[in-house]
Amino acid sequence: MTTCIFCKIISGEIPSYKVYEDDHTLAFLDISQVSKGHTLVVPKQHSDDLLSTDPEVLQHTTATLQKVAQQIDDALKPDGINILQNNRSFADQSVFHLHFHIMPRYKDDVDGF
Ligand code: 5GP
Ligand code: ZN
Repeated sequence: MTTCIFCKIISGEIPSYKVYEDDHTLAFLDISQVSKGHTLVVPKQHSDDLLSTDPEVLQHTTATLQKVAQQIDDALKPDGINILQNNRSFADQSVFHLHFHIMPRYKDDVDGF
């Protein structure tokens, strides 16, 4: 039995707002939106971080990252998009299941970001 929050989201044990799903990956809204449309992209196969991820799994994940960033760009028309991926607590990783943040940026968001 896993204690990983994102594995529980993938299995449906914890609810999430799904943005995209395929056999290998899932994208869902971050619970604390730093900007409108802030989304996390994860592989369904658990790995703690980037360095411990199987290269083929990483390829699926980055393909989904690009696809979902495009969907967000089309739907929300942000002025820019930040991609963030933290590794280990010292670098602000708080959930130890590989994930990429997609953070849409808007002209008026600078103060609150
Ligand atoms: P990290 O700091 O590890 O790069 O990012 C982890 C992210 O996961 C944070 O932005 C946090 O808001 C998000 N998060 C943590 N728990 C949950 C949850 O249960 N559901 C969702 N949707 N996001 C979560
Ligand atoms: Zn996991």
